[in-house]
Amino acid sequence: MSIILSLGRTVQAYLRQYGEHGPGVVVHCGRCGCGMQRHGRYWRWVVMPRRMYHMPVYRRRCPQCKGTCSLLPDFLRPYARFVTLVREGVLRRRLRGRWSWGALAEKASSFTVGLLSEKTLRRWLAGARQVAGAWGQFLAQYILQGWPATDVFSLTRRRDGVDAALHFLLEVGDWYRRQVVVQAGQHPGLFAALNHLVGAPPPL
Ligand SMILES: [Zn+2]
Repeated sequence: MSIILSLGRTVQAYLRQYGEHGPGVVVHCGRCGCGMQRHGRYWRWVVMPRRMYHMPVYRRRCPQCKGTCSLLPDFLRPYARFVTLVREGVLRRRLRGRWSWGALAEKASSFTVGLLSEKTLRRWLAGARQVAGAWGQFLAQYILQGWPATDVFSLTRRRDGVDAALHFLLEVGDWYRRQVVVQAGQHPGLFAALNHLVGAPPPL
């Protein structure tokens, strides 16, 4: 299990702060509610637009039920090698409609990061399409709680088609980020800003 937290805007900032020691946040066990204890770390590779980094991910363990979890920075999502901002950038360009998959793959690839295939990018879009509906619904409800006078549907253009939900999410999400600009400024991109909202769907 992963708990997603705001732990820096970039991998570099994360490494500066947590390269040696994990965050001191209090984490309660999702099963029994006990305070979880530090439980070592593991290392993983992450890919930024032009570089790869090796970074520690810190773990916690419940003294009561022995359950464990990882504290994941919100610029990542479980098992994804690329930071969310890279994926978000690709999806936004693709949705604007002027980029072919080949051109997008070329732009996202680099010497250090390696070649990205069109297949990978298509997989990113398919993954985002799968959760966009749930995320859009969650975000609309979230906005109505925080900003009850808002007409969520006026924040976005009405669309049809397979990417309607993703367009909705990005446009309403951008509005949300403008409202919480101070906090959102800590997050690299919309997906990262959304990823640690309490009760949110699976990470984007
Ligand atoms: Zn427990």
